[in-house]
Amino acid sequence: MSHEVDNTSDHEPIGLKLHVNAQQYGTQCRSFVSKVAWNKAKQQDLDAYSHLLRDNLAQLDVPYSAVMCRNLNYCKDDNHCCSLKEYIAAISSACLSAGKQTLPHTSARACN
Ligand SMILES: [Zn+2]
Repeated sequence: MSHEVDNTSDHEPIGLKLHVNAQQYGTQCRSFVSKVAWNKAKQQDLDAYSHLLRDNLAQLDVPYSAVMCRNLNYCKDDNHCCSLKEYIAAISSACLSAGKQTLPHTSARACN
């Protein structure tokens, strides 16, 4: 509520400052992310993918002590958990990079 002397009206303006944490809704195109187009992959693409993925995986260091650990749910060794997480991430990126190099990908459509 502001009581300014300049205001000769018998109404009092109410000022409000809002700090709203809102996501901005844009009208621009969504940014395009190319994905593997498995349906467009030919046999030779799949063969190339298979070979490259095998090579990529062969280069990974297998965390044997973690993989061979028998304490499935009760393992207290933090290193086992850590190295398994790293191993999973490495396998995943081996797959992704092999796919990126050998398989056809979706292309961006014109945006209106
Ligand atoms: Zn363990």
